[in-house]
Amino acid sequence: MRFGQWSKIKVSLIVQKYGGTSVGSIERIRAVATKAVAAHRAGHQVVVTVSAMSGETNRLVSLIEGVSDRYNKREYDVVVSAGEQISIGLLAIAINALGVKARSYLGWQVRFLTDSIHSKARIREIEGFRIREDLEKGHIVVIAGFQGVDEAGNITTLGRGGSDTSAVALAAALHADWCDIYTDVDGVYTSDPRIVTSARRLDRISYDEMLELASLGAKVLQTRSVELAKKYKVPLRVLSSLQEGGGTLLTEEDELMEKVIVSAITNSRDEAKITVLGVPDRPGVAATIFGALAEANINVDMIIQNISESGETDMTFTVPRGDYQHALETLAIPVKQIAAREIKGDPTIAKVSAVGVGMRSHAGVAQRMFKALAADGINIQMISTSEIKISVILAEKYMELAVRTLHDAFELDKDAGDRVIAR
Ligand code: ASP
Ligand code: MG
Repeated sequence: MRFGQWSKIKVSLIVQKYGGTSVGSIERIRAVATKAVAAHRAGHQVVVTVSAMSGETNRLVSLIEGVSDRYNKREYDVVVSAGEQISIGLLAIAINALGVKARSYLGWQVRFLTDSIHSKARIREIEGFRIREDLEKGHIVVIAGFQGVDEAGNITTLGRGGSDTSAVALAAALHADWCDIYTDVDGVYTSDPRIVTSARRLDRISYDEMLELASLGAKVLQTRSVELAKKYKVPLRVLSSLQEGGGTLLTEEDELMEKVIVSAITNSRDEAKITVLGVPDRPGVAATIFGALAEANINVDMIIQNISESGETDMTFTVPRGDYQHALETLAIPVKQIAAREIKGDPTIAKVSAVGVGMRSHAGVAQRMFKALAADGINIQMISTSEIKISVILAEKYMELAVRTLHDAFELDKDAGDRVIAR
């Protein structure tokens, strides 16, 4: 389905999400109200979920850090969830001012039930009846993104960027016909346009590709939101609230997508590398190291293990850069327990990845990628692959060069049909 046809279909329920920039000022809030009202007047039932006004959540985080760097995560959630309360109220007022009834709700009021992992809670269930009641009455319902409530009634938040996930979860729970994510970019690009000037907007992308892109550093959507969209087959559009345009449609994979070998090149500075040297080669050492990290709630991404001839192992892995110090501290004792020789780290790395569902059916993609990097004298420190992605870790200073090189190597500036498939 192309989304040009969508307007012809009589749709009953749509969820719109507006990010921080889109509600960043009174003027922009009015513009959002106008868009929501337009959809309402076109005959749709409209649920809007919003983020805090741009910069607000960061401001709240810095207030917390100003009070104490050893803060409790429960209280963190109480503070950082506050930004959305203001934006939903203002938006509802703006919609009312346009003559359409609107009501705003916080997460706990419409019951976004989550687990109790403060600052990165997961949604378990949404009790949609209140929302439905309001929609039946012809109201536009405005819901605070990013937040929920646990069984015990504590306020939780879904992780930074979590209002995307709120929107998709709402769309799934309400069986919405589609979900529009309005943001400050007009879609998903073949690469970050700030790095590659010839980057192009993709009309469509599969959930799987987007999942890789989101987890590989493309900041357009929170990863969890894409997982949910895929699981519940929510058709999702990423659009700009600041300019008109078709945006990018996230949808299930089709034959056309498979013809393109690589759809996008992503980059991320969000990781740090840790190496545990001289690990005795015996069962249980990996369990000790990664068990300790899991217990500290630190996600490990790539892992490489090398057994040298002396029977010792070097174990290298990456963790989120924000957890780097915490990871080193967490590992101090386990590393002694397993009698490893040394632990080292490097937070100045970057990850660059090529993503495309076409990799499933085309050989030689990795080879083309490594060759291009080698030609630019870029050293690869770690490699990991999945069915539809190849990622490399390299020194942070080479990141932008690597992205441009790979964008060229896979001819992403060209129309898919004009690319040279085999080399
Ligand atoms: N306001 C929250 C944040 O800044 C949630 C979001 O924007 O999606 O992370
Ligand atoms: Mg966002």
